[in-house]
Amino acid sequence: MTNSRYTIDHIAIKRGERLRINIDMGSIYDFTDVKMPVEVIRGKKDGPTLFVSSTIHGDEINGIEITRRLLAHPSLKNISGMLIVIPVVNIFGFNDRSRYLPDRRDLNRCFPGLKSGSLTSQLAYKFMQEIVLKSDIGIDLHTGAFHRCNFQQIRANISDPKTFELARAFNAPVIVDSNLRDGSLRAAVMQANIPMILFEAGEALRFDDHNIQDGVEGVLNVMGEIGMIESRKKSVRKKIFIAHSSFWMRAPCSGINIPSIKLGNVVKKGDVLSEISNPFGDHKILVKAHESGIVIGMSLLPLTNKGDALFHIASEKQRKVPDAVAVTNHDYYENADPVNAIG
Ligand SMILES: [Zn+2]
Repeated sequence: MTNSRYTIDHIAIKRGERLRINIDMGSIYDFTDVKMPVEVIRGKKDGPTLFVSSTIHGDEINGIEITRRLLAHPSLKNISGMLIVIPVVNIFGFNDRSRYLPDRRDLNRCFPGLKSGSLTSQLAYKFMQEIVLKSDIGIDLHTGAFHRCNFQQIRANISDPKTFELARAFNAPVIVDSNLRDGSLRAAVMQANIPMILFEAGEALRFDDHNIQDGVEGVLNVMGEIGMIESRKKSVRKKIFIAHSSFWMRAPCSGINIPSIKLGNVVKKGDVLSEISNPFGDHKILVKAHESGIVIGMSLLPLTNKGDALFHIASEKQRKVPDAVAVTNHDYYENADPVNAIG
């Protein structure tokens, strides 16, 4: 009898096989059949099953190029265990160059999904059943949202030692111990006791060679760590910034925003992050960091309205409840990532 862990959408994957499987996602109203193509590589030797997914947000395409280069990498010729690569999870949003699905839902708020739920919920359900619950470990690839760029970072629940090891092994410069959101893939995966890390880098609708290359290396580093390929320890980074909280600096006024810092800069409390002025250059307002940290995300639009999220700063500080600073600066300072800005 076939082990269901090695069967995806009724297709069995034997030892030593490499298959492309088009997971059936039903059809849309113009009668077009919708498929989610995945590539599966099962080594001759047993080992863990790892899924690498991209483009849960349909406009976050950097991960597609990461998976394409990963699949062409010679290290995959002789793996232990099974690798499942899903270049585009949100096949609907991808065709529309949109973060969302046609029913206007965000897939990363609809996990674990329902078999007979909304269109988005059905996709989440099938992805959980056919991919996630057959895996031991997961890596999910994201970028910043539209007009926002993210510095390379791993988001993970690092209070779980196994997940922390995977996060470190990926070797990104920043690890953010982020709160889990209801409905996110990460929350559903954690519920199923499957360690997962999320890699954020770059911006929506762009390929970024540096981030793509480091993304490929990161996935291979994790595969080395869990024994699927030979260990790649020699590339370990000396210092990784471990962040326990993050907050957005919001525009204190409307105008033209000219940043004076870059992604990845370490800033101290009071450092100037940008200057906002009118188009004539007068009425300048300086945006200063409320707290020390590292800049992990920023808006790329020079045009801003009061309250727009401008800079995402990760801090080493543990912060379970808003502190006095957060409360007194509530209008343009918050602990939680605003929806649509996380990436
Ligand atoms: Zn995303």
